[in-house]
Amino acid sequence: SRGAKCTRCRGQAVISLPSHHALFCPDCYLRFFQNAVRRAMKQSAVHPETPLMVAVSGGKDSLAAWSVLHEMGYRTRGLHLDLGIEGFSEASADAIERFAAPRGLAWSRYALEDLIGFSIPEIRRRTRRKICSVCGLLKRQLLNRLTVREGFGVLVTGHNLDDEAGRLLGNLVRHRTEYLEKQSPFLPSTHPRLPVKIKPLYRVEAHEIRIYCELSGIEPLQASCPLSRGATSHVFKEALAFLEMKMPGTKRDFLFTYLERNRPAKAAETFGTCRECGEPCYETLCSVCNLLGQLKDRDAKRSRDEPSS
Ligand code: SF4
Ligand code: ZN
Repeated sequence: SRGAKCTRCRGQAVISLPSHHALFCPDCYLRFFQNAVRRAMKQSAVHPETPLMVAVSGGKDSLAAWSVLHEMGYRTRGLHLDLGIEGFSEASADAIERFAAPRGLAWSRYALEDLIGFSIPEIRRRTRRKICSVCGLLKRQLLNRLTVREGFGVLVTGHNLDDEAGRLLGNLVRHRTEYLEKQSPFLPSTHPRLPVKIKPLYRVEAHEIRIYCELSGIEPLQASCPLSRGATSHVFKEALAFLEMKMPGTKRDFLFTYLERNRPAKAAETFGTCRECGEPCYETLCSVCNLLGQLKDRDAKRSRDEPSS
């Protein structure tokens, strides 16, 4: 609005954030955004000298997380998992390179196909499970493993306030107590082969991240994955967006109050070592090897069913 003044410096305001009852000029906005991340990093108790591995998809969240941490002086490296989704995966890598190259930032790219023998589309053809839940499981597991393999102890992900609040609402609605225990922006390592996991953007909303990217000249990947299909997590985010519209600040209060009242989460305890791959797991077979077993059984069954000539 014309003549509106920045809440911080009284300069010309161009950004309005009703949930903070604040108006900002571009410079003060960037400071506000950095402060939110600084606060999260302080809470995470990660030492400022600790090198951070940043999981990057090429989307706005992961690039913004990487960018702010780099601006704050952290030593960082990007880690990208190429899912092998035609068109989309190439565009993801392009967006990462477009961000990283001019800033002199290094990143590693691993193809899912090279790591486990299947790309996401190949897995999709071989399973009745929802592809996004399989994809999510693989990303979680493999990013953990690759972080440790590259010699890093901390893995950063770009989850934002909307992701975390949506997940909290979903878990509460469904009484998923075991997931609620892990509802934390900081998960300690419970095994020498598991990294500490942190979400430095958990205090900022998706639209605040979009503004940060615009002001910082970041051009994230615009396309969304062609395999995504109305995940139920979107419904919980929409419900919160509705509440937020009626009562600005509700989303933040909902998440932050919950986090304050609940003790910092414990990471899932691991009890054993996978008999196939030697990675930490709950019992004797890790979730990745379990999935691979299912996929291979299916291939074997298929080739048995095919008439041999
Ligand atoms: Fe994976 Fe689903 Fe996300 Fe696509 S939308 S990247 S399949 S989790
Ligand atoms: Zn395994």
